[in-house]
Amino acid sequence: MKCRRCKAPAQVKLPSHNTGFCPDCFFRFFSGQVARAIKDHAMIAPGERVLVALSGGKDSLALAHELKEQGCDVTGLHVYLGIPGSSDASLAHIRAFCEPRGIPLLVHSTPDDGLAIPEVKEALKGRPICSACGKIKRHAFNRAAREGGFDVLATGHNLDDETARLFANTLRWDASYLSDQGPCLPAEDGFARKIKPLYRLSEFETACYSFLKGIDNVVAPCPYSSGASFTGHKVLLEDLEHTRPGAKIMFYENFLKNGREAFRSVAGSSPALTPCARCGSPTVRETCGVCGLRRMVAARRAGLFVEDGAAGLEDEAC
Ligand code: SF4
Ligand SMILES: [Zn+2]
Ligand SMILES: [Zn+2]
Repeated sequence: MKCRRCKAPAQVKLPSHNTGFCPDCFFRFFSGQVARAIKDHAMIAPGERVLVALSGGKDSLALAHELKEQGCDVTGLHVYLGIPGSSDASLAHIRAFCEPRGIPLLVHSTPDDGLAIPEVKEALKGRPICSACGKIKRHAFNRAAREGGFDVLATGHNLDDETARLFANTLRWDASYLSDQGPCLPAEDGFARKIKPLYRLSEFETACYSFLKGIDNVVAPCPYSSGASFTGHKVLLEDLEHTRPGAKIMFYENFLKNGREAFRSVAGSSPALTPCARCGSPTVRETCGVCGLRRMVAARRAGLFVEDGAAGLEDEAC
């Protein structure tokens, strides 16, 4: 196969687009998809400061690299979780990624905040750690964005992540999640604007980009991970994509165009948020869920009983 653009031998074959590219033309394609996502959804205005959540995985690193190349004012944020055998390697890897690219890096340490993930896991007594961990990370991202005066918080969710989540929400016909899903959520109630500039690109395309740009993956996966999130849904959707190339992006874009608004009217307005009495983060209760988890960990350390602070944990993964 030849590159669609320059007719050199194609090295990246993209069945969804019924085409293939040489590396240089693939980078143009990739940048074009990111630029289109940013423009179509007004994700980043000129001069805005973007905080990119960096886990150490290929998607978040590819995103930071690409936004920097597109001239955005990018800062990385890593949430250090204190997980033996994984967290130190992730942090070292992210530092090694950011330094040569001139990307400033902020690190939020959850152990320093009374929330080392192994301790949270113990305090949860068998309930899903990934859900609590996700909540702690989102809390740290929002707080860092707010306190650092960032306009936008960007995450590396790709098309496979987004369609698998949409499929899961659709299977449950969950109006509140469906009304809230999208690649750009506006800033409101003390939360920064949240964007997913890779949402038009598949996991495979992001992996190709990372590989061709020489961006390494972190090699120490979290020991609590039971695999990627929504793995089963991703396999189903990949099968569909195989027989109907382009089905995933069509499913997602048509939902944004025709479905989301309808679910917004069904879901009604969200409960009003007020600042958490302990940490100031927006919450519907007097204190937020993360302060509840911190209290449980502290009580367990002191050998005390504490009422359940882990309400609302769902099964989710990294
Ligand atoms: S797999 Fe991800 S979400 Fe789950 S505990 Fe590990 S880092 Fe946290
Ligand atoms: Zn080419
Ligand atoms: Zn709080």
